[in-house]
Amino acid sequence: MMKRTVKQIANMIKIENDITEFQDNVISGACIDTRVIQEGNLYVPLKGRFVDGHQYVEAAINSGAGASLWQKDVPNPPHGLPIIIVEDVLTALQELARAYLQELNIKVVGVTGSNGKTTTKDMVASVLSQKYKVQKTIGNYNGRQGLPLTVLSLKEDTEVAVLEMGMSARGEIEFLTRLARPNVAIITNIGEAHLQDLGSREAIADAKMEIVKGLSRDGLFIYLGDEPLLRERAQAISDVRIQTFGKKQENDIYPITINQDENGSAYSVNMEPDSQLYIPVLGEYNVLNSLAAILAGRELGLSMEEIKNGLSSVKLTAMRMEVLDGLNGIKIINDAYNASPTSTKAALNLVMDLDKSREKIVVLGDMLELGEAEKDFHREIGRFLQPSKIKYVFTYGELGYYIAEEAKKQFGADRVFNFVNKQELIQSIISHIQGNELVLIKGSRGMELEEVATSLVENK
Ligand code: ATP
Ligand code: MG
Repeated sequence: MMKRTVKQIANMIKIENDITEFQDNVISGACIDTRVIQEGNLYVPLKGRFVDGHQYVEAAINSGAGASLWQKDVPNPPHGLPIIIVEDVLTALQELARAYLQELNIKVVGVTGSNGKTTTKDMVASVLSQKYKVQKTIGNYNGRQGLPLTVLSLKEDTEVAVLEMGMSARGEIEFLTRLARPNVAIITNIGEAHLQDLGSREAIADAKMEIVKGLSRDGLFIYLGDEPLLRERAQAISDVRIQTFGKKQENDIYPITINQDENGSAYSVNMEPDSQLYIPVLGEYNVLNSLAAILAGRELGLSMEEIKNGLSSVKLTAMRMEVLDGLNGIKIINDAYNASPTSTKAALNLVMDLDKSREKIVVLGDMLELGEAEKDFHREIGRFLQPSKIKYVFTYGELGYYIAEEAKKQFGADRVFNFVNKQELIQSIISHIQGNELVLIKGSRGMELEEVATSLVENK
């Protein structure tokens, strides 16, 4: 965590009051939530939709905060407390992170994309940990608040930071990349996430490409070369070093063999055809995510042996293609973290072809934030399901209804079920399990389908 005195902090950001009285207070790290404050934290009172953090400044200091920020336009700053007044609290948090990161003088890897950011971040971090002291974005702290908080949590002896960059609008990635100044910038892919906010896949590609704007001098830009929208845009930029990954042979790195089993994928790549690589996670797209991690590893000077060790010991953040043992010998693939049409099709493709000895049950929740064409996206998933490869289809939610409606045309009504009540959904799934099936669970974050996974796990 950042450790600085209030006086030092006053030199890192622009402040509006006299802090002499408590200038020697030592601040360690920052926190926006009084409930999890740690001794010495800088409390950052953000204004949320429902509450204004300024209400809790005193409480934060009573709980051990070393000082608190305070926004100039909020009346009555408390007297006698270590308060640092700033023009805008969020801006101050971001400026502090920017200054701290500059002082650390470390290597930064930035990861954006519609799907697979967290996964790729975890893989890159696992690879680079074979050679460096690495810290990465915790969970999904990837936005205008989360990224600065991640930065302020970096230890002084960190050598590489792997930062996830998320967005819901134009300009956000540009902002984050200019703050973080990555040495390596990765775009995992372009999907339909945020179609609602941005309008078209072209617009999403433009927004993701902003990551290049903050690339440090001599930095490397890595992207999914199979995506024409990215290729077009990458070809239009000059004076940036670029490498691509993907399935196609026109990429700098591509897989030459992939063998998936129930626990992961063994594969080899064109760059080192004799090395056998392994990732303990499912899904062909995860092999692709790992290719980005290989390129990042090579860029930062790792040997193929080190990269290989890093990949085989990858641990992903929970609910991303997590394989669990369930009731009656079933296997559960818990991918309830999130869902878009691209990632849903990718997961279905995997499951439909995996382990022929198990019958397949798929449980699909609504895919949210898809904008006007949302019903069509769901119907398309319904058509994508193959009756010869899947025994039962369960859908959950109001949009899930359209998956079911379309699926019934192929499967018939007795193999497709739609629910809007989660307990009824769970009961119905349990009553249809005979034993030994493979159950895929996938839906948008808001659908919280992990509850289904938990209910199907044995002896919970
Ligand atoms: P968020 O925008 O919520 O932060 P993210 O981009 O960090 O998402 P992950 O959390 O890594 O994405 O993965 C979410 C889901 O997307 C995974 O569970 C998986 O189903 C799918 N996914 C991961 N990588 C890819 C990929 N390269 N292409 C398509 N789908 C992917
Ligand atoms: Mg993420």
